[in-house]
Amino acid sequence: MNQFQYVRPTKQQAAIDAVAKDATATFIAGGTNLVDLMKRGVMTPQKLVDINRLPLTRIDADPGKLRIGALALNSTVADDKQVRERQPLLALALNAGASAQLRNMATVGGNMLQRTRCSYFYDTTMPCNKREPGTGCGALEGINRMHAIFGFSDKCIAVHPSDMSVALVALDATVQVSGPKGNRSIPFAELHRLPGDMPQKDTTLEPGELITAVDVPDGPFTKHVHYQKVRERASYAFALLSVAAALDLDSNNNIKAARLAMGGVAHKPWRLTAAEQALVGKPATEESFRQAAAIAMQGAKAFQHNAYKLKLGPNTIIQALKTAASVA
Ligand code: SF4
Repeated sequence: MNQFQYVRPTKQQAAIDAVAKDATATFIAGGTNLVDLMKRGVMTPQKLVDINRLPLTRIDADPGKLRIGALALNSTVADDKQVRERQPLLALALNAGASAQLRNMATVGGNMLQRTRCSYFYDTTMPCNKREPGTGCGALEGINRMHAIFGFSDKCIAVHPSDMSVALVALDATVQVSGPKGNRSIPFAELHRLPGDMPQKDTTLEPGELITAVDVPDGPFTKHVHYQKVRERASYAFALLSVAAALDLDSNNNIKAARLAMGGVAHKPWRLTAAEQALVGKPATEESFRQAAAIAMQGAKAFQHNAYKLKLGPNTIIQALKTAASVA
């Protein structure tokens, strides 16, 4: 591992300044992804700015929303009574991620900023435009069974790996950010970006910007929710594909509102707005779910090894919606 400086500020502004004024510096919190990347030489920051002393761990039940501090641990959030009651979809997605040990270390802010698990990104002997712009994409003509079916470019076909992010995009969350130019809010759907010609850039954050919290607005999705994750092991594996589903049903089992998002299919958590709209006013039946799944998959395109996702996608959407509808 490269040598690096390590600082541990207690003031938020000092942490922001330390990263904003040094292009080789980066924030570290739980370190569950960054330390791996540093060990492998994928990321080589010259300075680590440890933010664990900043007061960003609170979960506040504000009127109309939950505000979850960026340093709240994944396990703490998943177990929080307010989260489980007001945003059960978020709790389900968090518990589907990683392992119990990792959830006890990983923070909410770090979870949404984790890097892709494309194996070529982690192998410094292979070409990868995300790790080293201009070197090519090893996955395009290589082993691409884990890769994207939506929103990719000819520069990168990687997928975003977070389960939590899939729930947060479905729930219309907002990310609170503090940076050299002050504070701003970013709709969760705009935090992550598609690769385009700059796959090295995962998010819309500016240099030195620190995520301080995520706001999750209250809504009617407190009962009929499900997070369906398909993976190769029952635990401690990234999603081949996942679906966050939430339904608001009337007394006749008709759909008043729906939320749907997919993971493991794009460079960002993939919200399925057209499919959501197609569900509104329909009965909560398998036929309605099948129609919505067909709409959701429009425009999907597979590579040599991931054509299975074209079938797994709609099947998982239908299963997630059926389970959500049947939750008593
Ligand atoms: Fe790199 Fe993206 Fe290609 Fe993977 S898919 S090798 S991360 S450029």
